[in-house]
Amino acid sequence: MSQFNYEEVNGVQHGKGLKVVLYGQEGVGKSTLASQCPGAVFIDCEGSTTHMNVRRLPSPTCWEMLCDELKFIAENHQQKGYQSVIIDTFDWAERMAIEKICRDNSTEQKVLKGIEDFGYGKGWQYECELISKFLDLTNPLISAGVNVVILCHAITKKVTLPEETAEYDHWEMKLGSKTTNKIAPMLKEWSDMTLFLAFQTNITATDSEGKKHRATSQKRVMYATKTAWWDAKNRFGLPDKMPLDFKQIAHLFQTAEPLICADCGQEIQTVKNHAPEQIATITEKKYGRKLCWDCAVKAKEMNQNATAS
Ligand SMILES: [Zn+2]
Repeated sequence: MSQFNYEEVNGVQHGKGLKVVLYGQEGVGKSTLASQCPGAVFIDCEGSTTHMNVRRLPSPTCWEMLCDELKFIAENHQQKGYQSVIIDTFDWAERMAIEKICRDNSTEQKVLKGIEDFGYGKGWQYECELISKFLDLTNPLISAGVNVVILCHAITKKVTLPEETAEYDHWEMKLGSKTTNKIAPMLKEWSDMTLFLAFQTNITATDSEGKKHRATSQKRVMYATKTAWWDAKNRFGLPDKMPLDFKQIAHLFQTAEPLICADCGQEIQTVKNHAPEQIATITEKKYGRKLCWDCAVKAKEMNQNATAS
């Protein structure tokens, strides 16, 4: 018998961020779902959030910039109030990874343009190493309690089950080459939760014999467990299928204690792209107490009047 008493650790480990992968069909609402994570800041690699009112860092133009932005968030999350980093999307990030690998391995004599130019799967090996280093960069964020959410497009691939002859569609992350996809399993392995986001079409019969059918409604759903048709995982005991709604997973994300204004007693809210944590930090420094935006404006006026008289 062990001399130690090991307690089982279930569910959310407080003080640690969540590692999440959300992949889904085009237009299903990956970015919108992710934007509801507490204290979300986007690293928008493909400009898909330009129409959304979210906090975002400049779109990275190369792999090095993407990594720098992660480091920036790790160093500044407290001051800026970042609680969740959203990488939107990883298939665009992967393009920058491949561009870097080609750039680093090209010579004047031989310019490499694509990962296949390396031969013998060498390029994919370099890519795996680079992505693995990137995932290591998320460690300081996770231990600081910042969630890391990776978004990815989904594509279908025709597959055949060993015991059957019929082909069927399998939804996968849009990563890697057509034949070898080592990156998607790496992301899934890294994650605490990989969800597949999809449209579900309901078909109803339009005649009494049930011969004619019509698509009557379309629901958006998310899948939390793996099947033959898609990949997913979670270690939180989520239902296999859920409506695509942040409420379904909100309990997994720990939210910071609400910040209360010292003057009016109201919760400090986000104003003009400034997170509550940011407003609280600035007002505490300036006025010696945490204030909401309105009370900070009043405090400023009082200070100005005091100096004027
Ligand atoms: Zn106030």
